[in-house]
Amino acid sequence: MNNNVLKKEFSKKDVQRVRNLVKGSTGARTTEGIGYTKKHEHYKEGDVWEENNRKWTIKNGLKQNITKMDKFKKIGKFPLFCPKCNTLMKKNLDKKVYPAYQKCFDCVVDYEADLQKKGKSEEYFKELRNNHVQTAIDSYKSFMQDQLKESNNSYVTEAGEVENWDGGKNKKQVEQELQEGLEFLENLKVK
Ligand SMILES: [Zn+2]
Repeated sequence: MNNNVLKKEFSKKDVQRVRNLVKGSTGARTTEGIGYTKKHEHYKEGDVWEENNRKWTIKNGLKQNITKMDKFKKIGKFPLFCPKCNTLMKKNLDKKVYPAYQKCFDCVVDYEADLQKKGKSEEYFKELRNNHVQTAIDSYKSFMQDQLKESNNSYVTEAGEVENWDGGKNKKQVEQELQEGLEFLENLKVK
């Protein structure tokens, strides 16, 4: 086991994974597969498998525990009624716009038209982008916290390979390296 090689690979791939996460291109392969000893199984986006009596999947290029994802989905669930105009949110478009805008589609249309009139749309789109980046930061943070809790000796590459290694990397190092990913994301915000 060459720990130096692994360490280098980890940082590089980690940053690339964050980039892909932000760009939404989760299918992209990011590793050249530089040889080091590893035990791996290959999983791709959407696969579901059992490991240590728990169900896992690859979502957005990240290994995730399904039970946890279900919990997360419940938190992110949108309300029946638009918080702005109190009408029933039933259109597909309502579901699409709600996570980013916190209101129904009709309200979004009205709101944006109004901003355009007042010449404030630039500020608004900046905030929208930053909210989007913040969402990515939040899910990345909870992903890494889960990973650190789950295991101190494995992680999943962008390409969905579960990689395990023995020793040589401690929790502190991993935290530090993942911190770089967070800084990368923070820099995507429009100042
Ligand atoms: Zn509304």
